[in-house]
Amino acid sequence: MKKYTVICRPDPISEGLKEQTIKDLNANGYIQDDDDPDYIFVIGGDGTFIYAVHHVLRKLGGPRMDHVQFYGIHTGTLGFYTDYKDTDYEEFMDTFLNKKYTVITYPLLQARYENGSHNAINEIRIENAARTQVIDVYINGEKFETFRGTGMCVCTQLGSTAYNRSLGGAVFQEGLDCIELTEMSGIHHSKFRSLDAPLVLKGDTVLEFRSASFDGALLGCDADVYPLDGVKSVRIQVGKSTYVHMLRGRKVSYFDRLKSLF
Ligand code: NAP
Ligand code: MN
Repeated sequence: MKKYTVICRPDPISEGLKEQTIKDLNANGYIQDDDDPDYIFVIGGDGTFIYAVHHVLRKLGGPRMDHVQFYGIHTGTLGFYTDYKDTDYEEFMDTFLNKKYTVITYPLLQARYENGSHNAINEIRIENAARTQVIDVYINGEKFETFRGTGMCVCTQLGSTAYNRSLGGAVFQEGLDCIELTEMSGIHHSKFRSLDAPLVLKGDTVLEFRSASFDGALLGCDADVYPLDGVKSVRIQVGKSTYVHMLRGRKVSYFDRLKSLF
């Protein structure tokens, strides 16, 4: 386990830190291998971390994800995917070289539909900017409601501070095994009514979204989008096959993270 790759946001501070990281890792016997790494160093923001997870997933495939570990440093604020800021670089590297970290494993959200399946670490959205999207929502096989509006968002604990928060969803304390369903601009009047409030659900809940037509809608999986034309049903749940292993170093209070971001 001595091979690594670095995924970096293209800005001067992140690129400077990348050079330093490569220098220090090489000096300690690690070998840069972008095609077959054991460790993925991520330098940038939470957005860079998400990009890195999707990039590696596409490049190496789900099963191989089980054999790589992600380690991030944030060149900005304190992120939710990273425990270090650029000013903490010495500690970041020392923690890695002396294996003072713990490995934390996070499952990915998975969307399955007629055309395939996709994963996400923050959230999966069904959104239609062109016309009112009608969606029948099923929770564990039981019809819950008919939603009308722009779309719906399902997030993980990690993603609760991202898009979900902008939609008025609750932020989950770290460690909670839950997912959350939020509406995106739901239409509510005397004829049409859906819950109109964020719904927090157990981590093993299976959600199904059915519609007579998803034409014009997009399936958003973190930063990636896929057309849903012709699709009739999308199932979303926490997957049981693809996991992200992250090296977590210094203990940062979750509330410090929240305070530093907002
Ligand atoms: P991006 O620019 O990489 O990210 C958008 C912003 O969301 C950045 O400031 C990023 O932080 C922050 N962010 C990402 N994950 C977060 C998390 N788990 N908790 C708190 N903040 C987080 O945009 P992108 O690459 O298109 O999309 C990636 C993510 O951005 C999506 O998964 C979605 O959650 C979020 N997004 C939010 C909105 C919205 O709130 N209206 C719209 C589009 C996308 P950094 O600065 O640290 O990278
Ligand atoms: Mn970003």
